[in-house]
Amino acid sequence: LTDKLSRLVKNLSGQARITESNVQDMLREVRMALLEADVALPVVKDFIARVKDKAMGQEVLGSLKPGQALVGIVNRELAATMGEGISDLNLSVQPPAVILMAGLQGAGKTTTTGKLAKYLIEKRKKKVLTVSGDVYRPAAIEQLKTVTQQVGAEWFPSSPDQKPVDIARAALDYARRHYIDVLLVDTAGRLAIDEALMAEIKALHGAVSPVETLLVVDAMQGQDAANTAKAFKEALPLTGVVLTKLDGDSRGGAALSVRKIADAPIKFAGISEKMDGLEQFDAERHAGRILGMGDIVALVEQVTSGVDMEAAQKLAAKVKKGDTFDLNDFLGQLQQMKQMGGLSSLMDKLPTQITANAKPGDLDRAEKDIKRKEGIICSMTPQERKKPDLIKATRKRRIAAGAGVQVQEVNRLLKEFEQMQEMMKKMKGGGLMKMMRRMGGMK
Ligand code: GDP
Ligand code: MG
Repeated sequence: LTDKLSRLVKNLSGQARITESNVQDMLREVRMALLEADVALPVVKDFIARVKDKAMGQEVLGSLKPGQALVGIVNRELAATMGEGISDLNLSVQPPAVILMAGLQGAGKTTTTGKLAKYLIEKRKKKVLTVSGDVYRPAAIEQLKTVTQQVGAEWFPSSPDQKPVDIARAALDYARRHYIDVLLVDTAGRLAIDEALMAEIKALHGAVSPVETLLVVDAMQGQDAANTAKAFKEALPLTGVVLTKLDGDSRGGAALSVRKIADAPIKFAGISEKMDGLEQFDAERHAGRILGMGDIVALVEQVTSGVDMEAAQKLAAKVKKGDTFDLNDFLGQLQQMKQMGGLSSLMDKLPTQITANAKPGDLDRAEKDIKRKEGIICSMTPQERKKPDLIKATRKRRIAAGAGVQVQEVNRLLKEFEQMQEMMKKMKGGGLMKMMRRMGGMK
């Protein structure tokens, strides 16, 4: 969402009902936010129409303002559009249950095959066999062999001189004779939608009658994901989607388009290239990510009681203008974090992409750390805070002495400040600052 939206949210304060006139401008902004997150246009249109229907005339409950209530409706509707609850793999067939992996080259089919094998072995106690039908690149067969061995599943050998359908049939036959529970069939990459390869995967589907046909889509593919989903949906009866590379910095709007166009639930999310980087897809959390905000409504509540809105707005405005983020702002941030009821509760509410690297133990330490950092910045002169470059060895010693810490700790703080400054520059287009701007407007 944009900062215009936050102004609109503010303008709506004091009205007790969501009406045609007060909602129009806000929906325009929501539409922009979705397009920015790479949701396909027809999907956006349809979505906005539905939100409008839901929102019209709705009473605004409790202490929420109409603007906040609308954000809540948007968030819930997004989550509902992407799926209700968690959708697991369907394995309720006479074993072996066959899972066919489909998708463009590089989407993450082979990697996901390995991850699914691991998930099936560890979480669902299955005996798993994998096989590669990618006969066009010998390296692809080797790649599957490597990941399969890594996760302790069985691998069925194949070679480039065989036909994919024959390979799959042989693997299925082997699986039957060796009491395999699940056979995962990895398939050839398609760089783009290609008739011959589509015919091939259709034939593969016919040969092994999979209980699950999973479309693997790269979340970074953005708008193109919709076209990919459309083409595969026309060729195959898809039963689920795996959205990969959600650890990247895409806002993941592809989820919305793909869910809609493939007409199949998003079952898993890929969150790293490692074998444990697979999660069951959580639509609610993902809705927050698409809008570029975590559990915004809850956060708004928490924030209105704790944070100095003016400071947040000032900071946001500054970053927006591209002014430099200085140590005073850094101090302001540290203080706000303290006010918001502790880092850990705040972290829970931020979009996952920001908190992906944090561990629970880090948070406790971080909270104590904030106090020390405040102490250090408070020992600096106003001039030093404005121009951290001034702080050389002598000044560092003075500051350290003033704060009762070692010089190294001052160095560490300056380093961290620099990183934060870098991050602020990067986040100008989205993420935390955007969120703070919004919060500022929701006062
Ligand atoms: P395929 O052509 O569809 O089989 O794609 P691969 O499984 O070979 O994956 C292509 C690239 O994407 C590889 O470098 C993978 O390590 C990487 N990859 C796959 N899934 C993920 C993911 O969820 N996160 C990240 N960061 N990388 C992934
Ligand atoms: Mg592959």
